[in-house]
Formats: sequence, structure tokens, C-alpha cells
Amino acid sequence: MSAGTEGLLAGGVHGPGHLRALTATVLDTLETAARARGGPLPAGGPEAVARRTRALCGPVLPEEGVGAEAALTDLVRAVAEGAADPADPACVAHLHCPPLAVAVAAELAGAALNPSMDSWDQAPAAGVIEELTTAALARLIHPAALAPDALITSGGTESNCVALLLARERAAAGPHDGPLRVVTGANAHHSVHRAAWMLGLPAPATVPCHDGRIDPAALDRTLAGLGGGPVLVVATAGTTDEGRIDPLPEIARIVGRYGAELHVDAAYGGPLLFSERLAPRLAGLEHAVSVTFDLHKLGWQPVAAGVLAVADTALLAPLSLRTDYLNADDDTEAGLPDLLGRSIRTTRRPDALKIAATFRALGRRGLSELVEHCVSTAEEFGRAVDARPALRRRPGEIGISTVLFRPVVADALEPEAGDAVVAEVRRALLMDGRAVLGRAVAEDGDGRHRLWLKATLLHPVAASADLLPLLDLVTETAERAAAEEGRGGDGSGRGGGGGGDTGAPVTERLSP
Ligand SMILES: *Cc1c(COP(=O)(O)O)cnc(C)c1O
Repeated sequence: MSAGTEGLLAGGVHGPGHLRALTATVLDTLETAARARGGPLPAGGPEAVARRTRALCGPVLPEEGVGAEAALTDLVRAVAEGAADPADPACVAHLHCPPLAVAVAAELAGAALNPSMDSWDQAPAAGVIEELTTAALARLIHPAALAPDALITSGGTESNCVALLLARERAAAGPHDGPLRVVTGANAHHSVHRAAWMLGLPAPATVPCHDGRIDPAALDRTLAGLGGGPVLVVATAGTTDEGRIDPLPEIARIVGRYGAELHVDAAYGGPLLFSERLAPRLAGLEHAVSVTFDLHKLGWQPVAAGVLAVADTALLAPLSLRTDYLNADDDTEAGLPDLLGRSIRTTRRPDALKIAATFRALGRRGLSELVEHCVSTAEEFGRAVDARPALRRRPGEIGISTVLFRPVVADALEPEAGDAVVAEVRRALLMDGRAVLGRAVAEDGDGRHRLWLKATLLHPVAASADLLPLLDLVTETAERAAAEEGRGGDGSGRGGGGGGDTGAPVTERLSP
């Protein structure tokens, strides 16, 4: 081996030794960079971050390489100093979780060995670990089914797409005429619509929602209006905007009455099943023919860790496929397991490994505690919002671990200007690098839709006290933004900006 290629590989007997030195560099750099960032995301907004990242990275494909140590130091520093880090309690915009150390460590092993999950001769043991993991997930999701099964996917988007694909194939083989019709709530994830589009299905019929959940009477009317033909109803257990769970038992009854099928998108809410106390919120899930379930949300896995569970393994038959180089008939007859029918992908990461390591490390009880922590922290955070006169929570229940709220100064303005203040608060905090809050349009107590700030609490350790500074930040920033809006500002300013604010604080309240 030439000097330049010494220590090149991660696998084999010597690989771990090479990796140990590089891993130390990576870990040291991660730590230093997190300190340097000093917050949930870098300050300065997209242009400043892009400028700094480009400067730290240097040319990405130089003629002569700089060597692994230097490349890792530069790039890890760039990505970490410029990260939106969900391990910071003020990083709560999305279903974007802080990953568990055990899962990340398992990823390192998976990456070093690089099994590909499309044939036995690339993944002899990894295939078994995937089988054990999917069996455990299948039993968790469909405990009463005789032969439940589950696939590992790249996330909820792929799971929903495969669920619609399987339903389309069942419809084509079934007694009804016409293409599969998909019926979903106005609260459904966009991936349901995109899947129908990709699969050449008619655009889904959208059922109106009340309080963020499918209105069962409206679903009944929609199904009655479709006449005959094969129908898949897609309900959501944990909506992306509000964490709301559709009324699954009522939906299942209606679906049954029309001879339709039910798919439940539980990308967010699925892990409530780990908790005996919270699992009853998913009652009705057992009627679903298929279930989308993500572990890179309330499951603390690094991306990607998606699951599609089906009530019966025979439902996966449409995915089976033969290709000589991966699963020739004579190889399968000779006993080599056929993995190709376990995905729509070919080359595939061993994502089951980190899931299995996490499950085994924490057990169901440990996972339950983390899920319950997020749910109870959201409830406490909601009470903290309620206790602040300057803020107002969206009326109604908290959806899983998502809290929607807005500054009351926004309510005093015309509806559009009020929403602009909410949007401006979020952007001002992002630009300053002080908080990563989400945004959601949701129904208010008066039935109108308004823009809200969204806190999606997935931190399995942070307490509600760690989140209180966020409420101060929102209140202060909103006062400045509302004053600007009231002065006829265009709402695109920086709302007075960050700590180095030069203007005197605007204290005049725009009271109703
Ligand atoms: C996040 C989400 C999805 C999409 O999942 P990805 O893992 O991002 O592909 C689908 N449905 C719901 C309800 C979600 O919250």
C-alpha cells in the first residue's frame, strides 16, 4: 500500500484503528464547534452562514487532497458551527429530534461495515438484525394480528408512498372497477398527496377538519359521494402542524361500513405505543391495514429511520421481485434469504442496527419514559404559556408534544398584520441565532385560521424550565415586531435584531 493510502479503510481488522484516530478528531471538533456556536443555530442568517461555511470548507474538490485529518477538521467545524442543533432546548421548530448517543454509535458500526440490505451476500447478519427489528415493530403496532410485518423505510414519505402503492395493487386485483381513490383529511401530510401523484392515482379527496382532526361526519359524506370503487382512507395519528390524532375508532367504523381500507400515518404519534399510559390515545390503530411510523422523530434516531407496518405479511407480496444478480431462484431455493422484496429501494442502509441497539439499550420501559417526558414537558410548557399575559396558546388540547402559541400583540392588529408579526418573530429569532421555532396555520377558538408559533418538543431530557427563556425571547421580540408593524413597517425587517439592538425598547402596547 502506498503511503497515501495507508489507513484508508474503515473495515477489516485494521480499520477500527484508523477510525479511532479520525473519530477523535471528529469528536473534539464537534465539541469545540458546539461551544463556539453557543446557541441553537448560527447567528446572522443565510448569507452570513453561507459565507462562513464556504470559507471554512475551502475548495471541495481540490486537485491535491489535504488529507483526512485536515478535511475532517475543516468540514466538521463548518457543519457543526453552522448547525441547527436539536440537542439545544431552544431548537424546537420541527419533528427534528436530538439523536441518542447509542444510536449514533451504532451508525458508526453500520457505516464501517457497510452492509447493503438488498441481498444476503452483502448483509448476512445485518439481514437477521433487520428481521428481528421489524418483527418487534410489527408486533408493537399490530399486537393482535396473526402474521404482522414491517419494512424499514427512509421515513414517513416513503412509508406513505409504499402504503398507497400496496393499496393500488390490491385495488387492481380486487373485485371493484376503477382506480383506487385516496381519501384523507385536510390535516394530512403533503407526502400523501405527492404519493398519489407519483403513483398515477387521482388526486386525494380531502375531508374537512375540525380542531385539526378529521370530522367523521364529513368523512362519511365524502365516502358516500364517491359511490363504489376501491377506497383507501388515510388518517393521521399526530399531525405535523399540531400533533393532533384523528378520531381513529370512529373513522375505522365508517371505513368498515363503506368496505374501504384504512391506512394510518402515525409518523409522529406511533411511538406513543411504547407507553402503557399513552398508547390508548392510538386506540383504533389496530384496524389499519398499514401504518406509517417514524423513529427519527419521537424515537431519537439519526435520520433515516422509517417504518411501514402491515397487518399481514402477505400484503407485501406486490413488492417481490426477482433479479438474477441479487436473488436468483436457485439461490433462493438453496436457502439464501431473499431481501429484495423488503423495499422499493435496492442498495439500502442498515438502519435497523441503530434501532435495534436503541431498543435493546433502553427497553420498552426506557423508551416509554422518554416519550412520556416529551408529552408531559409539552403540557408544562403549555401551562407556562397560559400563565403569561403577553402570550396566548391555541385553545384546546395540546397535540402530543406540540404547543402552538402567539403573542397577544399580534391579536390587536388586523389579521394579516397580526400574522405578519408572528412570522417576523420567528424569523428574527432565527436570524439572531437565538431560537428555532416553527410556524403553523391552525384554527383559533373563533373558527378562523391564524398563524401560530410552533414548539415541537422532542427533547428527551430538557425540562420545561429550560424552555422558559424562549417565552421571554418571544415576548420581547414580538413587542418590537408589533411596534414596527404598527408604524407601517414592511414586516421584512429584522424586528430590531438581537442583543446589539440600538433603538430604545418600544414599550407602547397596541391594546385592543
Ligand atoms: C414527518 C411526517 C411525514 C414525513 O416523514 P419523513 O420521515 O419526513 O419522510 C409524514 N407524515 C407525518 C404525519 C409526518 O409528521
